[in-house]
Amino acid sequence: MSEPYRVIADHISTTSGRPFVAYQVQRTGGGCINDAVVLADGQRRYFVKLNRADWVDMFSAESEGLQAISDTDAIRVPQPLCWGTDNRLAYIVMEYVEFGRAKDGTLAALGRQLAAMHHCTAAEFGWHRDNTIGSTPQPNTASSDWVQFWCERRLGFQLELAARNGYGGRLQSIGEHLMTQIDHLFTDYQPQPSLLHGDFWGGNWSCDTSGVPVVYDPAVYYGDRETDIAMTELFGGFGTAFYEAYEEVWPLNAGYSRRKHLYNLYHILNHLNLFGGGYLAQAEGMIARLLR
Ligand code: ADP
Repeated sequence: MSEPYRVIADHISTTSGRPFVAYQVQRTGGGCINDAVVLADGQRRYFVKLNRADWVDMFSAESEGLQAISDTDAIRVPQPLCWGTDNRLAYIVMEYVEFGRAKDGTLAALGRQLAAMHHCTAAEFGWHRDNTIGSTPQPNTASSDWVQFWCERRLGFQLELAARNGYGGRLQSIGEHLMTQIDHLFTDYQPQPSLLHGDFWGGNWSCDTSGVPVVYDPAVYYGDRETDIAMTELFGGFGTAFYEAYEEVWPLNAGYSRRKHLYNLYHILNHLNLFGGGYLAQAEGMIARLLR
């Protein structure tokens, strides 16, 4: 077994309390950000994500995020086991989940279970630590004021990053203006600090072989639940069964249909910062529509 798998296997042994030797190492290609492998000993299998050693905080935050969701008992996540570094690489180890096909009822269960997770609330918006959205830092310093939190730690943070990435000019001026106007979207709506997945697009959920929904790769914090629902609509939507089931448990406020653009603007700005200029026109268009 080669490094770093020996180090990871030793860590699995100490954390699980049972000796583990990774006889099989299967590369899976990974996701948007990280490399991934499945380590197996013939009986147990673990899903391991790998990145450069200086990314270890991203994995420690992911591990805590998965644990926070798991602790709600509302929705299945891969159980996180451990994280760390060898000399070169950072890793996170979690339960390997065998994915299967969605069954009748899978989407509805996802909606109900997400709503149940959103019912887990905190005293303030934010989280006890910062994490990442994609590979971008996501500050979570707590605030009792959601609008302030959204302006400073979400839109404002991404706009500043965009300025540093060379997107000054109109984006900055209309973005600044938007942040002085968004109180209007909250005149009859006080969101609660719900536990959020935080990066809830179609690529971050699946289901196990029994059709039970599984969510992963979260960017957890406590915030307005509408942000998770908005993100489901960003790249095409999750299907009516999901939304109907969610609203049976916890109906959305009528103003959601406008606020969702404010919430998805965060992800579009993040895409601009991660992937570049193609998202500039989309971000500016969203801001202009919100200002109308
Ligand atoms: P990244 O952080 O690079 O975006 P993801 O966490 O999204 O990586 O994982 C990449 C892919 O690996 C997912 O789209 C999913 O298909 C698969 N995957 C993620 N977690 C697990 C797991 N615990 N068990 C099995 N497969 C997984």
